[in-house]
Amino acid sequence: MIKADWKIAVVGGGIGGLTLALALRQRGIEVDIYEQTGELREVGAAVALSANATRFYDRIGLRAQFDEVCFSISTLIYRDGRDGRVIGKHSGDSSYERQFGACYWGIHRADLQAILSKAVGMERIHLSKRLRDLKDSGSEVVLEFEDGSSARADLVIGADGARSLVRRWMLGYDDALYSGCSGFRGIVPPEMLDLLPDPDAIQFWVGPGGHLLHYPIGKGDHNFLLVERNPSPWPVREWVTAAEQGEQLRRFGDWHPAVVQMISAVPTSQRWALFHRPPLGRWTRGRVTLLGDAAHALVPHHGQGANQSIEDAVVLAASLADHGPGRFAEALEHYESLRRGRTRKVQFASISTADVLHLPDGPAADTRNARLAQRDEVMHNLGWIHDFDPATQVPSERQGGTWL
Ligand SMILES: Cc1cc2nc3c(=O)[nH]c(=O)nc-3n(C[C@H](O)[C@H](O)[C@H](O)COP(=O)(O)OP(=O)(O)OC[C@H]3O[C@@H](n4cnc5c(N)ncnc54)[C@H](O)[C@@H]3O)c2cc1C
Repeated sequence: MIKADWKIAVVGGGIGGLTLALALRQRGIEVDIYEQTGELREVGAAVALSANATRFYDRIGLRAQFDEVCFSISTLIYRDGRDGRVIGKHSGDSSYERQFGACYWGIHRADLQAILSKAVGMERIHLSKRLRDLKDSGSEVVLEFEDGSSARADLVIGADGARSLVRRWMLGYDDALYSGCSGFRGIVPPEMLDLLPDPDAIQFWVGPGGHLLHYPIGKGDHNFLLVERNPSPWPVREWVTAAEQGEQLRRFGDWHPAVVQMISAVPTSQRWALFHRPPLGRWTRGRVTLLGDAAHALVPHHGQGANQSIEDAVVLAASLADHGPGRFAEALEHYESLRRGRTRKVQFASISTADVLHLPDGPAADTRNARLAQRDEVMHNLGWIHDFDPATQVPSERQGGTWL
């Protein structure tokens, strides 16, 4: 067990912050998490966790807790969004788990947060602590919170999400980039999806200017994200705007009946603009570093935002433990060098995925469809993301490892 003679503060009790606490504990290091909300409440609906992330939870003994509330997804289907024709239907080599060595779980965010926070222990999670400022004296960092209180730490990790205050403290203002897409999200119970073919699969329904992605989560509910391509720039400051009832049908009302049934099954009240952050050359300043969306917020078209936060947590914990107390600079340099290229490659792949899914009818869309029909091609395109093990591997060039 490594001595508790270093004090680590994590800002943000989201997926990344909580996973970091577990990964460090596995290495004998305890942290304090400071979370702005008064109770742990996840924004958004659900999340799909792929093998590059789930192998960590399996390894630390949380498999049974996840199995209780997750849906284990094994088939990926691409369809034409308008006529429902199957473009490609793929499982792994007999199963996803066999192909990639760990599960693909659809999970409600509230369930995920409950499992992680219970495993961390509420005594390490300080709620209603909204960070206002940091003061780095060179030998320690003081965290100042909105409620007037403060805390001291040897090292601070900003896991405070896509609009990170720690990132702003570190870099000054840097704008988020509107990706040209916005959309609608929801969770639909199985009894409202009687038109849905292959309800156990994760499915992309694609077409010109938009797509619907959905997957099963616990109890057979489906989490969906309907993505629509809109003109850039995004016209308002808010990332989430009010939506009128039925707005989601304006563009997709003539798509396949199963699509229409799913996207109109839940009341529509919000439109989510999809933003990302430009990749950074460095994301450490002195004794402060970033993790997850704070470092590399990305659009969700590869379903990798949460998964990359989990990878970050596993790599950062190992680097801190391996370098030991007092060698923060080397540990953080090593962490960044392992994460910069891979997260950048996933960010770019996530953006271009939407471009491919939204092609207008014509030769380019025909070529895309021919490629999506081939199992080897699809597995090859997923493999560099899903087969990666952050605990044991340095990313290869294909996995994003050579981008310095
Ligand atoms: C609408 C939507 C849908 C998404 N869908 C998917 C998906 O299907 N699959 C996927 O992999 N990813 C998805 N993502 C992305 C995914 O949610 C994020 O990548 C992931 O949550 C990042 O984890 P994180 O821990 O870095 O940040 P977050 O989960 O955002 O956690 C940040 C935490 O920091 C806290 N915080 C913020 N500021 C402060 C402060 N000043 N002081 C103290 N605490 C603070 C917040 O309250 C929050 O708890 C989606 C994102 C959104 C917005």
